[in-house]
Amino acid sequence: MNVLVINAGSSSLKYQLINVESQALLAKGLCDRVGSNEAEHKHGLGDAEITECVAMPDHDHAVALVLEALTSGPTKAIDSLDEIDAVGHRIVQGGKYFDRSVIIDEDVISKIDEMAELAPLHNKAAIMGIRGCQHHMPDTPMVAVFDTSFYQSLPPKAYMYPIPYEYYEKYAVRKYGAHGTSHRYISERAADLLEEDIRDLKLITCHLGNGCSISAIDHGVAVDTSMGMTPLDGLMMGTRCGSIDPAIVTYIMEKEGLTPKEMNDILNKKSGLYGVSGISNDLRSVDERAEHGDERALLAYEMYSNSAKKFIGQYIAVMGGVDCIVLTGGVGENSAKMRRMIFAGLQTMGIMLDYEKNRTGPREREISTDDSEVLIVIIPTDEELMIAHDTYELVHDLIADPDIDYNEDLLFF
Ligand code: ADP
Repeated sequence: MNVLVINAGSSSLKYQLINVESQALLAKGLCDRVGSNEAEHKHGLGDAEITECVAMPDHDHAVALVLEALTSGPTKAIDSLDEIDAVGHRIVQGGKYFDRSVIIDEDVISKIDEMAELAPLHNKAAIMGIRGCQHHMPDTPMVAVFDTSFYQSLPPKAYMYPIPYEYYEKYAVRKYGAHGTSHRYISERAADLLEEDIRDLKLITCHLGNGCSISAIDHGVAVDTSMGMTPLDGLMMGTRCGSIDPAIVTYIMEKEGLTPKEMNDILNKKSGLYGVSGISNDLRSVDERAEHGDERALLAYEMYSNSAKKFIGQYIAVMGGVDCIVLTGGVGENSAKMRRMIFAGLQTMGIMLDYEKNRTGPREREISTDDSEVLIVIIPTDEELMIAHDTYELVHDLIADPDIDYNEDLLFF
């Protein structure tokens, strides 16, 4: 089964065409600056990638261009749209409604729209991507895969905030988490790699990149995660502040005369590694300057590692131990120095990093010492493959029995 995976952002649309049985990536691409007359479309694999500048007034046009590039021209991957068996859409916010991936119907679309309150840019864009696909492939089944559904298992003590209860009742203010598809993928893949049943493991999964999150996964069930009602919470990130004293927000707003939107921009786009270092949100640039003695760069680097270390400690406490710590994301996968700093001092908790394995080896590997009580593994994440798998499972069942309502027992209320 060939699944087209679509990840629509407010002004972008990323896609991959994946054959699920063979796990082969047949094509991939990115439409950037959707909504403009000078949009960019990158399409193709490796050296065969081509980039063209085209008018892309909306997501509907973007989908049309993607389908054309998949089926014609020098980069064509399939002969006709009939070879796309299903489409899987990444949806950022499923809110309280979705605790798993679902077949898309009008009811699902209206729930995604309702949840756009919590992720306005992302959910609205996802709907535009869905509508574009419905328009150009009306008979192809589609599945929604939510970044938040993995965290619907969190207990109330983890997802509630200690503010007046009425805000939960009135505005659904609670933790939803994010990056769930990535954490689900790396937790399942880690269990496979360790040849263990995930239901026998206590895992801490760390997605460390520009966006950062850490989750506690107890016997296959997510019990806590660092991102909150929005992806701003938790760890220090590339440009996001993560958890800070909430009083700072109103204090700075008053001092600087800022509007809520301006303050929101500062916390989301001007903080984190970038805000502290004053250099970049990119860890490599910060590291380079730190190596040359830049004190703020060094401070930003140390704060990033300390923030991850503290969440690992928290989640060991939450689960009463940990069997394996899993790392992914641009930083988690690639920065041996950051990993050294995160795990420094955790030996007393039975967490022993093997410096040589940490330095070099295959992309997916164990990096703890042979006598470490807690395993540490690096697993490159693959959210698109996870989306393709979910799509495959649901559509496969739908084809086998078209009369069953697979969304029937969802959390709709
Ligand atoms: P996003 O959250 O945007 O998907 P990524 O997971 O791609 O981000 O991670 C981007 C981060 O990974 C950047 O800070 C970048 O500097 C860092 N990174 C990528 N490769 C390396 C490397 N070899 N060494 C250190 N940091 C790296």
